[in-house]
Amino acid sequence: MSKFWSPFVKDLVPYVPGEQPKLTKLVKLNTNENPYGPSPKALAAMQAELNDNLRLYPDPNSDLLKQAVAKYYGVDGSKVFLGNGSDEVLAHIFHGLFQHDLPLLFPDISYSFYPVYCGLYGITSAPVPLDEQFQIRVADYAKPNGGIIFPNPNAPTGCVLALDAVEQLLKASPDSVVVVDEAYIDFGGETAISLVDRYPNLLVTQTLSKSRSLAGLRVGLAVGHPDLIEALERVKNSFNSYPLDRLAIVGAAAAFEDREYFEKTCQLVIDSREKVVAQLQDKGFEVLPSAANFIFARHPRHDAASLAAKLREQGVIVRHFKQERIAQFLRISIGTPEQNQALIDGLGDL
Ligand SMILES: *Cc1c(COP(=O)(O)O)cnc(C)c1O
Repeated sequence: MSKFWSPFVKDLVPYVPGEQPKLTKLVKLNTNENPYGPSPKALAAMQAELNDNLRLYPDPNSDLLKQAVAKYYGVDGSKVFLGNGSDEVLAHIFHGLFQHDLPLLFPDISYSFYPVYCGLYGITSAPVPLDEQFQIRVADYAKPNGGIIFPNPNAPTGCVLALDAVEQLLKASPDSVVVVDEAYIDFGGETAISLVDRYPNLLVTQTLSKSRSLAGLRVGLAVGHPDLIEALERVKNSFNSYPLDRLAIVGAAAAFEDREYFEKTCQLVIDSREKVVAQLQDKGFEVLPSAANFIFARHPRHDAASLAAKLREQGVIVRHFKQERIAQFLRISIGTPEQNQALIDGLGDL
């Protein structure tokens, strides 16, 4: 702490991202990156953009990408918002749409950035416990609130809520904004973007970091009613007019256009996930049903922190959260078949 700080800074509790180790030999299954890499067409588009034009500012509206996203989802461009990673999109949502008197609702076990944004923007929140099977119980959200946000599939559980359940939740809170954070939707869920035309209180966020394997590029988006998008644009243009650089705009647009590569690599991850689940179950793990590119598992006879430490000694890193209810779980990202085998080998005989 220093006398130079603005007073609120000393009370901030920042998000702690998963480790990005400098050692490249490690099998990195801790931050849900995609093992297959970006579309070659996205890489080519970015290479073509590496030229003298970098002296010029990018398009502040990222129209090329906005149109690519709008076309991909069959919505109007006025319903699309873009940001520097979906974390930035979420920050603008909390800032521009969630500062109300009633508390914001989100699951007790959920993306740990949500409470951080509440702290940053002075938003009160009320955790809604997942049920005993770690599922979202839609009826629990039908109470007065200043907004609702949840990941679908949920993180770090991987469990998905069906589209009709999302719609039920929307219907029960017509007077507040409901944000569905679909960071992992492409690995097994059905996007709620199809509901945007009928529910002016719905905002869906997505990222290119997971299913499109562009975590290093930092591109995220939101789709919703133009009135919600306008709030986000106002916040964005009061913060940073150019959140997406020239490379990100063309690379992300090309990634959306390469549907074939996207579908192929998502399917590879899904197939590997099913195999890893079966292998872990063989070793006695209890694995929550996953619709994501990671799984959440616990072993009835082995401590999660010890298992994580043992794996690390074998060069495999997974994520362990020291949090009530889930302290005995490990969150394991799905890697290539070789990486997944290193995980299984690293666990050894339990
Ligand atoms: C990874 C993740 C994000 C953030 O994605 P970025 O676009 O890389 O910022 C948002 N929400 C959830 C639930 C995530 O797991």
